Amino acid sequence: MRRRSFLHLVGGALPGVVAALAPVPATAEGATERVIIIGGAWAGLSAARELRQLAPDLDVLVIDREPILRSLPLSNTWLVDRTPERMPRLDRAVLAGQVGYRFLAAEVLQVDRAQRRVHTSKGALEYDWLLIATGLSYDYGAWFGGDLQAGRVARENFPAGFVADELDRLKQGLAGFGGGTLVMTIPASPYRCPPAPYERAMMLAWWLKTRRIKGKLIVLDAGGGLPRFTRLFADRYPDHIEHRPYSVIRSVDPHGRRVLTDDDDLRFDHALLLPPMGACPLVERAGLLERDKQGQTVPWARVDPVRLCSPLDDRVYLAGDLVGTVSPLFGHYPKTAHMAVRLGAIAAQQIAARSTRAQELPVQLPHSICHVWLDAEPPEQLRMDAQYRMRGDGVITQAVTQHDNPQPRDEDLQWGMGLYTGAFGATPK
Ligand SMILES: Cc1cc2nc3c(=O)[nH]c(=O)nc-3n(C[C@H](O)[C@H](O)[C@H](O)COP(=O)(O)OP(=O)(O)OC[C@H]3O[C@@H](n4cnc5c(N)ncnc54)[C@H](O)[C@@H]3O)c2cc1C
Repeated sequence: MRRRSFLHLVGGALPGVVAALAPVPATAEGATERVIIIGGAWAGLSAARELRQLAPDLDVLVIDREPILRSLPLSNTWLVDRTPERMPRLDRAVLAGQVGYRFLAAEVLQVDRAQRRVHTSKGALEYDWLLIATGLSYDYGAWFGGDLQAGRVARENFPAGFVADELDRLKQGLAGFGGGTLVMTIPASPYRCPPAPYERAMMLAWWLKTRRIKGKLIVLDAGGGLPRFTRLFADRYPDHIEHRPYSVIRSVDPHGRRVLTDDDDLRFDHALLLPPMGACPLVERAGLLERDKQGQTVPWARVDPVRLCSPLDDRVYLAGDLVGTVSPLFGHYPKTAHMAVRLGAIAAQQIAARSTRAQELPVQLPHSICHVWLDAEPPEQLRMDAQYRMRGDGVITQAVTQHDNPQPRDEDLQWGMGLYTGAFGATPK
């Protein structure tokens, strides 16, 4: 075991790092090695629970900048007041106490892989094993280059609600929409939860129609769309949605409320501006990004597709939405909460096996289930299942199936609560 001081004073080594700190739970007594998990959401909380069960001797610490977990899954119906907020909010410190690991509410600023040290807004911490599960972030640079102010205005006034801390602002913005043109942009794949923008578009169209708002949703889609939704848009809400596939966005002016595409210079009254996405900036700062064939960095984490460790550092594991290419056949795993939960568990199994010097683990591949609302009233749902297999040549294959659910009975809620209790060990009221 390496020498460690749980709260290591780094006096000014990084801006924003302070020496005297908030109460951090003490290192687990008798622990052999320390695992730090950065990001306490679907991937991180699943990994923490799995580690607690598989390797009770490990000292497990989860760090997240937010004390409370709020669910993006199942949020689209709440956004338009079709349902109340369905998934409970989880207090991360309480959950940590229940399951038996430690939690620190702090911003992680940097990972020093050479020293195996994580620099946070509350001090520096040493690790033996690191799991980065920080999800993804928006790449406003793709639209605005170095104009940070434009990115701030876009996010402040026209939030996309694809990260949890924007949900309330997005809902308030929609409440103030009195009619006219409502624009929603969908970036090129990969992005978070492939069906989510289409489900949201259906909910918004239902909301415009039932509230009798004289407005139209224009969906500027960088891709071709999902055929099922394309048909539904045209059949059920022709006056309320216009879906424009293969719309290449040339520029966005959040001050003047304009989007310039190859085909149009569109003025909007309100918008959900969803830009291209990439792994959270910490992954780039840690030097863990993928490179393309030309050697240029790509904004997703490079991983060993089976072990989920970084090929650049075998003490560092990566799980959840930030994971980059895993197969030449389909590229990325779908960026879903279910997938994040499974990847977090697999990464934890790998860490547990290596920390106890167990034998090589058999190959474990994830799966994902996604419940999607096709329409609001009467409710109709679709379940999308993604399964993975390892081919004889070591390439991972993907099979996606869809199952209609014309009379849903809260299967989506059961799914979500099943992950909270089964994967996180939570006992929400
Ligand atoms: C509208 C919508 C609907 C969706 N519906 C579904 C669905 O029905 N089913 C489904 O399976 N998926 C769904 N998803 C996708 C799902 O939300 C994501 O796949 C999931 O959140 C990914 O989990 P994650 O743990 O990888 O990352 P995240 O959930 O993004 O969590 C990352 C965590 O890391 C923390 N963090 C990041 N950087 C730092 C830092 N530097 N320091 C400290 N903390 C940090 C963040 O605070 C956050 O808590 C939906 C998404 C959206 C937007």
